[in-house]
Amino acid sequence: ATILVASLAITSVSPVVSAQISQPDIIQEHWYHSYATLTLDVNAWADDHPEIVKLLVVGQTELGRNLWMLQISDWSQEAKPDGSAKEVVYIDGGHHGNEHLGTELAFLVAEFYIEGWAAGEKSAIDVLTTTELHILIMLNADGNDFDTRWNVNQVDLNRNYDHYWNTCPTTQPGSSAFSESETLANSVYMNEVVPHADLYVTMHTGVWIMLYPWGKWPEQPSDWEMYHHIRDEVNSNISDIPIRNANQGLYPNCGTSRDYGYGVMGFPTFTFETDDEQFLLGSVEAISDRLGEELGVMHYLIENVWYWRARLVVDSLTFDGSQAELSISNLGRASTTNATLVYVDEDGSEHVPWISIDGGLCSLDSQFNYSLQGCGFQVNATNTTRVNFDFGDIELSGNGKFQLHYQKRVIDSSMWVTEDVPGNMVISGIIASGGDIFSDDIRFLFLFLVILMALNAAWRGRRNLDNQIKSEVFSAEANFSSSENVRIFDTRAGIRDLFMRPSFHEPVVDGVRAIAVLWVLLFHAWFFHNPEWTSGHEIPWYESVFENPMFLWLVQGGLGVDMFFVISGFLIGAILLKEINRSDGLNMRRFYARRFLRLVPVYLVAMMAAVYFLEGHNVENAWANILYLNNFLSIDDQFMGWCWSLAIEEQFYLVAPLFLLIMRKSESFLQWSVFLLVLGWALRIFALEINELPVYWDLMDLGSETWVGRFDHTYDNFYTRYGGLLIGVIAAWIHVNRKEDVKEFYGSNRLRPILLSFTALILFLFATFLEQRHLTESHYTIRLTWYAIERDLFGLSLAILIMSALHSKDLIAGGLRRLLSSRALYPVAQLSYSAYLMHEMIMIWMFPKSTEFLIVTIGLGPNITFVVNIVFAIALTLISASVLYVTVERPCMRFRKHPFMSQIDGTSDSVDSLRGNRVSTLGAIDAEIASS
Ligand SMILES: [Zn+2]
Repeated sequence: ATILVASLAITSVSPVVSAQISQPDIIQEHWYHSYATLTLDVNAWADDHPEIVKLLVVGQTELGRNLWMLQISDWSQEAKPDGSAKEVVYIDGGHHGNEHLGTELAFLVAEFYIEGWAAGEKSAIDVLTTTELHILIMLNADGNDFDTRWNVNQVDLNRNYDHYWNTCPTTQPGSSAFSESETLANSVYMNEVVPHADLYVTMHTGVWIMLYPWGKWPEQPSDWEMYHHIRDEVNSNISDIPIRNANQGLYPNCGTSRDYGYGVMGFPTFTFETDDEQFLLGSVEAISDRLGEELGVMHYLIENVWYWRARLVVDSLTFDGSQAELSISNLGRASTTNATLVYVDEDGSEHVPWISIDGGLCSLDSQFNYSLQGCGFQVNATNTTRVNFDFGDIELSGNGKFQLHYQKRVIDSSMWVTEDVPGNMVISGIIASGGDIFSDDIRFLFLFLVILMALNAAWRGRRNLDNQIKSEVFSAEANFSSSENVRIFDTRAGIRDLFMRPSFHEPVVDGVRAIAVLWVLLFHAWFFHNPEWTSGHEIPWYESVFENPMFLWLVQGGLGVDMFFVISGFLIGAILLKEINRSDGLNMRRFYARRFLRLVPVYLVAMMAAVYFLEGHNVENAWANILYLNNFLSIDDQFMGWCWSLAIEEQFYLVAPLFLLIMRKSESFLQWSVFLLVLGWALRIFALEINELPVYWDLMDLGSETWVGRFDHTYDNFYTRYGGLLIGVIAAWIHVNRKEDVKEFYGSNRLRPILLSFTALILFLFATFLEQRHLTESHYTIRLTWYAIERDLFGLSLAILIMSALHSKDLIAGGLRRLLSSRALYPVAQLSYSAYLMHEMIMIWMFPKSTEFLIVTIGLGPNITFVVNIVFAIALTLISASVLYVTVERPCMRFRKHPFMSQIDGTSDSVDSLRGNRVSTLGAIDAEIASS
């Protein structure tokens, strides 16, 4: 045990020293490593990458050469980002000195992760962030340099381990188990440094095959389920390499490091035999290419090390008096047998309940021994089970906790783990209520009823208010039109405005706005159930929504923002065009003053709320939001990351008046607009290609370099997203400047309007439901084209549908008009801006806490938690938006009618613009500006 050296100060290793050792030709030719060149290489790694490479000497060969051990991981972090312990992988090579290709495979695995890390490759970084790799490349350095199988004592090191040593007809096993310094050092390292490893691969050369235990017996190992799973995955996805039980796959052998690693240490173990074709000189293929397929298998084994054990997760623990029912899942690929649940009281004493096995109770209380067979429960790999316990008169209190004890694998030698059942609150909550008799479903139903009652109360309150207001409508409207003395802060009027649609408001436009914000809200409510925002809890329905075609519209909720863009373009375009037509110019001061009052004050208040909800995250970059430049920052640096769309709108307000002034009476307005639309497609492709980004954007691959790249370069920039706004402006231009043509088109003939509405509806659904995922088999050009045009196709169909709903009498347009004019949508439309500002900070703040609370404390299932979270987040969003609306938005809008505004405008008609044209649709849209 004293062989271990905790750390080593490496003195200079000079090539001169190494040259004194005699070497076979193939090693001197640098086809393979000699001990000397390996020494140089591993020391260079340790020198160049001290942050990830620790180099230790863990013993000496019989001739005194060092046994170099590489410990590779991101050593700046002791644990995984989620706080749990890192996975441990153990690899060795070079048991047999003449099996050079196998030794090189061990070397290449180390090289892949070290150099991958240095080159910033995600696959390497991901592994080193979560995993420790311990790699001893050359165990038999003496034999290596002599190019012989044996060590200097003529012992076959891979027959020298203490597992049924010398019990097979075998040659040269040594004088006793671990008689050789090399094998002894290796076993000491396994026992003292990496006993927790969940993967051990030992590298050899010979027949191309991977061998799992046993070598001693022809029977399958206890963990055959895990080995067969690995075999099937490797064979169907990575390599055809045969994967067999060693005894049957090769020949019976005893005292091997593989059988020792499994039978004594309890690791999942493999002997990786590369073939020996590069033994001969003359092959010029680089070794890394030669072993590319083998490396692929190693990456698979290492990246999935988390699965190579049982992983018990408590789904629920419910009590009925002293009776408990435990529902438990095994996420791992290995089964476990002797698991049990233990209650640890506040003094730290352990109490073991009676467990019900096959109908009878089995006490583990007396002389409890964790390794006792028979009284524990079993959970097969990737399976779920329910177990009943009787805690008898064991006193349970909220200060104690539950723990699970189980073995990582079925093999007796595998390690026992003790894991806390999260949420000690379960006990206090359940015991206090005198035992829980409600199932998850009933509890959910109860919660649902409470929410329904709250909504009902709100609705009735609104109707009472409504009735009161109706009696005041005449006086209110009278006030409205002669508001010389506008009361800026008027809560009552604010609440009234939230529910009463003024006569000049166009219901269709309100409806679209309401649907847009609801769409975005629902989309984000789903999206923020990524484990990153659920305290690590996996929500099955979060994944299901992504996979299920029925919910594609939800996954495509980003289009809600394009919906906003089209509406904005339409309304702002209409008001600007109308003013240009009327006065042959634009009052810019007035335009921006009104925009400012509409948008900025409530944004500032929301920012202050966001400092709290986002816990100050990126608040140092709030200046960019105030200047509406936040979309120029990377999404990783943006404060209120969802407000990039506001920046795009503001940038549009700078460009749109100029564009319309320049084009004011140009007959080629439409041609220019179409040109700009097509230019937008080209810019989108340009942004993708110049940044070498993939055309398919996997929403779930959150936070990866590609994800951030797609967001920063294609998603939140004005030049990649102006399409919707431009389409809105085009629609406004037709609406304002081609009024007669529009009337004629929709009035003249019954067939043409319904054909147009129908086509637009089909296009709208097509653009909503066709996602890149469905095109993965298509030619790249098709995928690129779809990526370039899908949002504009969506915007175009939406604009046509809006025009139809405004003008057409056909069936589709009529249905749409009725839907969009629904009274229930009006308050949502009124709240859309504030709700957009508030929703994401509420979700980011709430979901981690509420998910933990609902799953762990209340004991709801993850899917029900998902639904409750969404209902609550949207309710909270609408409530907070209502407060902002009444206290900030409405007062600011009323201030726009204040006489003071005319001083800013330089005109006296700031009030008048709301009047006059109330009857005509155009007038309505004009006045709509007041609320847009
Ligand atoms: Zn070998």
